[in-house]
Amino acid sequence: MTTLLIKNIHTLVTMDDQRRELRNANIHIKDGFIQSIGAIDEMPDSADEVLDLSGHIVFPGLVNTHHHFYQTLTRAVPGTQDANLFNWLVTLYPIWARITPEDIRISTQTALAELALSGCTTASDHLYLFPNGSRLDDEIEAAAQIGLRLHASRGSMSLGESQGGLPPDSVVDTEEDILKDSQRLIETYHDPNPGSMVQIVLAPCSPFSVTGELMRQSAQLAREYGVQLHTHLAETQDEEDFCLEKFGHRPVAYMQEVGWVGEDVWFAHCVHVNNEEIQLFANTGCGVAHCPGSNMRLGSGIAPILAMRAKGVDVGIGVDGSASNDSSHLLEETRRAMLLARVGAGLSGASRSDEDAPPLMSARQTLELATRGGAAVLGRNDIGSLEVGKCADLVAIDLNRLAYAGALHDPVAAALFCAPQNVDVNIVGGKIIIKEGKLTTLDVPHHIQKHNTAAARLLNG
Ligand SMILES: [Zn+2]
Repeated sequence: MTTLLIKNIHTLVTMDDQRRELRNANIHIKDGFIQSIGAIDEMPDSADEVLDLSGHIVFPGLVNTHHHFYQTLTRAVPGTQDANLFNWLVTLYPIWARITPEDIRISTQTALAELALSGCTTASDHLYLFPNGSRLDDEIEAAAQIGLRLHASRGSMSLGESQGGLPPDSVVDTEEDILKDSQRLIETYHDPNPGSMVQIVLAPCSPFSVTGELMRQSAQLAREYGVQLHTHLAETQDEEDFCLEKFGHRPVAYMQEVGWVGEDVWFAHCVHVNNEEIQLFANTGCGVAHCPGSNMRLGSGIAPILAMRAKGVDVGIGVDGSASNDSSHLLEETRRAMLLARVGAGLSGASRSDEDAPPLMSARQTLELATRGGAAVLGRNDIGSLEVGKCADLVAIDLNRLAYAGALHDPVAAALFCAPQNVDVNIVGGKIIIKEGKLTTLDVPHHIQKHNTAAARLLNG
C-alpha cells in the first residue's frame, strides 16, 4: 500500500457532477485512487509522501483523444507547410515509409513528454503505418517508461493507390494481416479494469484509405472483445466529395452503412457534419475528438462543437498528429478550442448584442471538454474528474507566474485565457511524473538529441 497526501491546494477544480471548485483543499490518495477530498482535519495523519501545493491550481489530468505520436518526427516539413489535407498526406507518405521500430519508440516518448508537461495524464494515439517491421508493441513499451495512461489505436490502411485509395501501395497492408494483428494486440495488452494503464482500440485510418469490408470486420472484432473503435471522419470538404463519389453517401451515412455507430465509436474531427448527423451521434452515443489546431493548420474548417454539446454528444479535445499541429501541447489545444468556437460564433453573422446570437464557449466549458469530455469519449468512468474512488490523475500549476499576473481573481479562467503554461506537477495513478516542472521519467535533453537525429535521417532519406 502506498499513500500520498496533497495539501493546501489554493484552487481545486474537481469537475465532479456539481462542478465544485474548492479553496484550500486537500487530497488523500491510496494505491493510485482518491481516498478523500476536503479539509485537512478529515485526512489521515500520515502518508508515505506529502506534497504541499499552496499557491497552485489543481485540475483533473487532461485527456487527449486523438494523436499520431510518430508525426513528431515530421513537423513543419517543407512542402507540407501550406498544403491542404490530401496534398499534405501525399507529400508525407514516402517519408513515413522510412520509419523504423526505433523511430516509433523515440517519437512516442517525445509526444508523451510534451503531453505530460502540458497537463495530460491519459493519451490516445492512432498509429496506422507499420513500415520496416514496426509494431504497436514498440509504442506501448516506450509509453510505459513515461507513465501516462495509453489508449493505443491499432490503425490500418488497406486501400492503396492501385485500388483507388490515397496512400501509396508501399504503406498499406493486407486486411487479413491487419485483423490478425488487431486480435493479437487486444489479447496481449487490453486491460478494461478501473485504473487501466493500457487499452487497445481498433482504428482503420479513414474512409479513403481502407475498404468498407475492413471497417465492418474491424467493428465485428472490436465488439467481440469489447474494445472501442476510432477513425477520422468528416475532416474536409475533399473527403465528403470522395465519399459521395466512391460510396454514394456522405461520410456519416457511410459509417452507418458499415456498422460504425454506437457508444463504442469515436470520430476525430467531424468538421463537416450537419444537424441530422449531429443528432445521429447523440442518438447512438458516438463521441467526437475535436482537434482545432489541426483544423486551423490545414484550413479544414470549424467543427460545430457547441451544437454537438447542446444535443448531448460527448466531445473531447485532441492535439492530432504533430505534422498537422506541430505541437502536442494539450492545454494550448484546449485554449484553441475555446477561441476557435468563438470565431465560429462570430461567423454566424449575428451581432453579439442580439438575443439569439450563438453563445461563446466559456473557459469552464472548454476545460470540461478536455477532462470529463475526453474521459467519456474514451469510454472511461474512472478518470476525468477528481472524486473519491476515481483515479488519482491530476495536474498542478503554480499561480505565482508572470503569465497569470493580473488574473488571480479567477485562477480557472487564468489557466485557459492566459498564455498556455506547462504544468509544475503531474500525477498519474498517484505517481508523481512531473515535479517542479521537470519530468522525472525521461532525460529530456538527451532524448531531444536522439529525436532530432532520427528526424533528420527520415527527411533526408
Ligand atoms: Zn489524425
